[in-house]
Amino acid sequence: MDIVFYNTLTRSKEKFEPLAPGQAKMYACGPTVYRHVHIGNLRTWLLSDLVRRVLEYNDYRVTEVMNITDMGHMAEDDSLTVAPGEDKVLAAAAAEQKTPKEIADYYTADFFDALTAMNIRPAHHYPKATDHIPQMLALIETLESKGLAYEKSGAVFFDVSKFPGYGKLSGHALGDLKAGIHRVEIDETKDDPNDFLLWRTAHEHRLVKWDSKWGPGFPGWHIECSAMSMHYLGPQLDLHIGGEDLVFPHHEGEIAQSEGATGQPFARYWMHGAHLLAEGRKMSRSVGNVIRLTHLQERGIEPLAFRLHCLGLYYRGHMNITWDALKAAQASLERLRRYLAEWNADQVTVEMPNRHLLDYRARFHQLINDDLSFPQVIPMIWEMAKNDLPPAAKALLLLEWDSVLGLRLAEAAAAPAPELTPEQRSLLDRRAAARAAKDWAESDRLRDDLAALGIIVQDGREKQEWTKTK
Ligand SMILES: [Zn+2]
Repeated sequence: MDIVFYNTLTRSKEKFEPLAPGQAKMYACGPTVYRHVHIGNLRTWLLSDLVRRVLEYNDYRVTEVMNITDMGHMAEDDSLTVAPGEDKVLAAAAAEQKTPKEIADYYTADFFDALTAMNIRPAHHYPKATDHIPQMLALIETLESKGLAYEKSGAVFFDVSKFPGYGKLSGHALGDLKAGIHRVEIDETKDDPNDFLLWRTAHEHRLVKWDSKWGPGFPGWHIECSAMSMHYLGPQLDLHIGGEDLVFPHHEGEIAQSEGATGQPFARYWMHGAHLLAEGRKMSRSVGNVIRLTHLQERGIEPLAFRLHCLGLYYRGHMNITWDALKAAQASLERLRRYLAEWNADQVTVEMPNRHLLDYRARFHQLINDDLSFPQVIPMIWEMAKNDLPPAAKALLLLEWDSVLGLRLAEAAAAPAPELTPEQRSLLDRRAAARAAKDWAESDRLRDDLAALGIIVQDGREKQEWTKTK
C-alpha cells in the first residue's frame, strides 16, 4: 500500500518513494540542550516517532538520526534570558553558574526522560554537535573551495547569492527581507543579511572553542545538521523532519550547505509539525506559557494521555492546548485500557478469516498511510469498540495498532489500574493543584477527604501517588 506524506518542499502530498527499496533514512532536528523541554517540543518530536512507526508498520527498515545541539545555537528572539547572537548553551551555563558541559548533560538527560515518558522510540544515533567539529570543518572547507563561503572579520559565512536554490523550501526570496529580517542573524559584518554563519573565531576568554584554519572558534548552528546528517546517513536522505519554525532559516540553510557541497539533492521529503499553542501563542519562556510534562502529571494527566491528545489532531494544524482537552484525553486513555483489559479477558478465539477484522485492519492501514491521518483513527477505535466483533478480535486489532499509536496499552492491560470514581479523580486533581500552588492547608484537607473515600495519597518526588484500599 502506498504511503503519502505532505512534502513542504513541493507543498503537496506525495507518494513516498525511498532512495533504496524497503529502506528509509530519516533525520530529525533535536533539542538545543540549555533548558527543559516543554510539551510543544514534544509534539514536534512525536512527529518523527509517528513517521518512523508508520514506515515500520509498512515493513521499511528505518535509520533515524536526531542531533543534540550542545553548542553553537545562537539565540534569535525567543528568550528573555539569552541576548540575540549569544550561544544558548553558554548563556545558560553563565546564568546557572555551571560549566557548558554540565548544562548540556543535565538538559540532555531531561530530554531523554521526556522521550521515554512519551514512549517516543530512541533514534539510532543521537550525535552531539561538539563531537562532530571535524566533520563540520571539512564541510565548511568544501564550501569555501567551491566559492560558496567567504571569510570576513573573523567569521566564515555562507554566500546565499551563490546558491541558486536558496529559498526553495521556505519561499523566502532574496532581497525580500521584510518577512524574514527578525529571523536572520543580525550581523553587520556580513555582505548580505541573508548570508549565514558557518564558523566564528572566538575571543580568547570564550570557554569552548576548537582550532581551525581560520583560528580557534566555534561553528554556527545550521552547519551541524548538514554535517551530522550526511555523516550518518550519506549525502542523500529520504526524510528530514522538524518543527515549522525551522523551515527558515535553519532548514533552508541546511539545503544550501548540503546541496552546495555535494551537488546532489539533499532530503527528498521535508515534513514539518505545526506548533502547539497555549493561550493562543507559541509556547516560550518569554511569554510565560510553558507547560512541561511534570505540570501535566501534577494535574493527573499522564504523558501518554498527552500523546493520545496529539494523535487526535493533524500534525500540520496548530494545537491550542486546554486543560479540559487534556483531561478528556486522560479519560480516553483510561477507557482504552479498560476496553483492552475486558477484551483480553474474553477467552473465545477469533475464527479467521474474519471479514470485519480484515476491514478494520485495512482502514487503519489506509488512514495512517495517508499523511498520518491519526485523527480519523481514534474515532474508528471507538466505533470498533461498539461493533459486534468478538472481543478477542478487538483486542488483537488494538494491540496491533498500538505498535503505531505507541500508548503502551499492552503493559497497562497486563496490570489494570484500579478505577477511580469521578469524585475521587476530581479530589486528586484538586489536591495536585493545591500542592502546585503550595497551599498546604488545602492539600492536607483534601488528603483527609480522599482517605475517607479509601484513597491513600503519598507525595512522590515528581507527583502525588495513590493507592486504593477499598
Ligand atoms: Zn537541525
